[in-house]
Amino acid sequence: MAKPIREITIVGGGTAGWMAAMLLQTGLQQGRKLKITLIESPDIATVGVGEATVPNMPRTLHQCGISERDFFRTCNASFKLGVDFTDWNRDRAGKPISYINPFARPPALGHQELGVYYSDLGAGPLDFVQTYTPTVDFIRACRAPRMSGAGEFDQKLKIGYAYHLDAGKFAGLMQKTCTEAGVRHLRDNMQDVELDDRGYVAALQLERSGRHPVELVIDCTGFRGLVINKALNEPFVSYSRYLANDRAMAVQIPHRDKQKLEPVTRSTALGAGWSWRVPLYNRIGTGYVFSSAHRTDDEARDEFLAHLGPDAKDAEPRVIPMRIGRNRRAWVKNCVALGLAGGFIEPLESTAIHMIDMSVRWLTTYFPDSDFAPPLRDHFNRLTDRMYDEVRDFIVLHYALGNRTDSQYWIDARETLEVPDRLAELLETWRYALPGPLDLPKAVLFDHSTYQAVLLGKRVYETGYGRGKLARGTRLDAAQWKSYLGQMRAQVKQKVEVACDHRSYLAEMRGEI
Ligand code: FAD
Repeated sequence: MAKPIREITIVGGGTAGWMAAMLLQTGLQQGRKLKITLIESPDIATVGVGEATVPNMPRTLHQCGISERDFFRTCNASFKLGVDFTDWNRDRAGKPISYINPFARPPALGHQELGVYYSDLGAGPLDFVQTYTPTVDFIRACRAPRMSGAGEFDQKLKIGYAYHLDAGKFAGLMQKTCTEAGVRHLRDNMQDVELDDRGYVAALQLERSGRHPVELVIDCTGFRGLVINKALNEPFVSYSRYLANDRAMAVQIPHRDKQKLEPVTRSTALGAGWSWRVPLYNRIGTGYVFSSAHRTDDEARDEFLAHLGPDAKDAEPRVIPMRIGRNRRAWVKNCVALGLAGGFIEPLESTAIHMIDMSVRWLTTYFPDSDFAPPLRDHFNRLTDRMYDEVRDFIVLHYALGNRTDSQYWIDARETLEVPDRLAELLETWRYALPGPLDLPKAVLFDHSTYQAVLLGKRVYETGYGRGKLARGTRLDAAQWKSYLGQMRAQVKQKVEVACDHRSYLAEMRGEI
């Protein structure tokens, strides 16, 4: 007869391991006498990157009892209002285009999508994103999504936001939260995995502590996938036919401007990939994600350091090989793989931590008993596959609609690599009509309005992708659009005026001024 599971074993003490421990401890514990043990190698370092997030983080921290103040102080965190894409596309004159992907959704105007108004009637000098959110203006003015006034320093402004954080310090904060709440932390090396006669994981062999019996194991061992791939032989499904980048290099640099702090992740296209720039409170994390088929490590290093200029004087970037794709199944027998052990898609939209978060929530919802009922496992796996495919398609979109011809990498990224079938079909439709609300059912992260922001941000309809005028069935009211834009811009101006300066707000929160 099926019995409740009494112990969860997590192997790996990176962001995935500690986030799993923290969410399971807070999400599952009520009413259960559940022991959680996290085993972390004292010898193998974490990947040490992964410092930009998406807007689920405020909710996650709150749920786990971590105050924003503690988080900002401990993790040298800053606000992130969106991602800036520079030089992914070029305009008709060959000049680099820059656009922001914000954490905001456009409202409808009457019964019509705002994107339709914008693409049909234009908005003067405004980008599409500026027609529905103050995000771009906040980024330019280095504002935090908080306002001072009426004695309420912390009053929130309605603007979507996430955080930048120091990955090592965030793991430390989660570790403290978990161990205080009763999670057992073993610093030990897993040396072997013992399987029972059904092929389930029966125990782990640890270097110092010996045999550790297992009921449910969560594999968070990073790209190694020691339990899911090495012990259980679950195949890894590579996404290399869709995405070329398979290496990264990372380095930390100081802030040049000590006064201003930009609340944005920047992604700048280079010759064989793109460079991220994540401004934390005390330093900037930056790196180059590139394709080894188009650059050796030395070539990539030279190109990256030239891009950083004097900021990177004496810098020695660390090279990180990346395995891009996902396991055929995320949950196999009594093992669930999370984080890099489960899969990874290049970090263009900073989704990996969010994917860990979502997976743990699904595991909590479909938590098994000792019989590991297959329908629970199968459903979890379907949800996970769908999430990976959704993120993959959205990332592929950025390359498929690139129009650079100045290096073989950009030509290959657009013309040689495959586009997943569903996306290929949609891309044909979107030549004639903007992405619509029914185009992407069941989207967890990227709905049609996010796709609109990318297409209009890249200005694809001005540079050859679109086929003439976009389709629409209804008449647009130009006067209504003009009046909407006027009101919207007045509100934006007012919000920028009352919002706190980003750096000063964080300094005050940290008790430094
Ligand atoms: P790791 O950090 O590699 O941790 C693995 C753990 O397993 C370590 O504690 C190690 O000690 C342990 N371990 C390994 N072997 C053993 C053993 N034998 N016994 C015991 N323990 C063992 N994500 C985002 O959300 N936003 C981003 O901006 C972002 N940028 C990224 C940029 C790059 C270049 C890369 C590669 C990733 C990025 N990610 C990003 C992803 C993010 O870094 C990871 O999802 C996250 O750090 C989780 O890593 P992990 O815990 O799975 O693996």
